[in-house]
Amino acid sequence: MTRPIQLTIHTAALKHNYQLAKLRAPQSRAFAVIKANAYGHGMQRVATALADADGFALLEIDQALALRQSGVSKPILLLEGVFSAEELKTCAAHNLMVALHHEQQLAWLESTALQRPVHAFLKLNTGMNRLGFVAERAAELAQRLSPCSNLASLGVMSHFSCADEASIGIAAQRQRFFAAVDGLNLPISLANSAAILDYPEVACDWVRPGLMLYGASPFAERSAKDLGLQAAMSLRSQIISTQVLQTGDCVGYGAQFCADRTMRIGTVACGYADGYPRHAPTGTPVWLAGRLTRLLGRVSMDMLAIDLTDFPDVAEGASVELWGRHLPIDVVAKAASTISYELMCAISSRVPVITD
Ligand SMILES: *Cc1c(COP(=O)(O)O)cnc(C)c1O
Repeated sequence: MTRPIQLTIHTAALKHNYQLAKLRAPQSRAFAVIKANAYGHGMQRVATALADADGFALLEIDQALALRQSGVSKPILLLEGVFSAEELKTCAAHNLMVALHHEQQLAWLESTALQRPVHAFLKLNTGMNRLGFVAERAAELAQRLSPCSNLASLGVMSHFSCADEASIGIAAQRQRFFAAVDGLNLPISLANSAAILDYPEVACDWVRPGLMLYGASPFAERSAKDLGLQAAMSLRSQIISTQVLQTGDCVGYGAQFCADRTMRIGTVACGYADGYPRHAPTGTPVWLAGRLTRLLGRVSMDMLAIDLTDFPDVAEGASVELWGRHLPIDVVAKAASTISYELMCAISSRVPVITD
């Protein structure tokens, strides 16, 4: 018997969620965003599950090459583009699409001898202020690149800072983007998950769903279930020890939780070295035996404690869901003052993964 923690990736949920993105943007092609090891779900695994996707988007060129090596022939977009002229040659050789977000990348494109031309998206900064050229330069840059023989095609892209915050929204960025690209007649890519769900009118030529593929909600006020999404990962483990606390007895490092009555607790084989958030407080929900119980005290590196006082029949070996099908990852993320993106990405490589 190995340590009982296990991550299950739900293939059918990935497919369902991708289809939902396509339903929201029926006229658009979709880059399934699989950066950061497909948000912790496994890049190859997700690419296989979503073999019918129109394309894939990620950041890591070695991962993009691995995809090509495994036989993926769909468009693959590097969201941060290349980091050297050498990488641009690799992109040309393997038909990887690149974002162009700064002057040096344009210079490499104009001055490097490439095996064949590359497809590219010019990244425009419309207010996120992270990557991209000042949006108003779109026409000038498109003009400059039009004679470039290394370019197979050029699109324009931008990214919204507040598509998930209805109080701010996308209006200012949208207006700035469309004013800047007016008349250029180039393919457009704008929408992440939140924009696909709330502003389908900006779906345009290519959408870029990430989080929604994995079955979590980008919105604080709406659940994944309300949005029709299905959890694509379940993190499960087992109780490996039980203890009885007398009034005044405390649990774990720092003795952060102390019993005010006689209690029964269980020790679960899951800790922050597995990716469970260390800052999850007492009270964070945990799914056990068909209902919720709660985390008690500080999360350790390899273990955490849960309340079994109302579960007299639960013993060592009982299965626990930390998040997944029964307990939405968004609920755990909120309890731990973070977002589901961070929990997914933090799943540790020591956690065995199975697919269903
Ligand atoms: C990560 C990323 C996305 C996907 O965002 P989600 O909120 O996960 O849907 C889309 N576009 C770019 C440029 C990104 O970096």
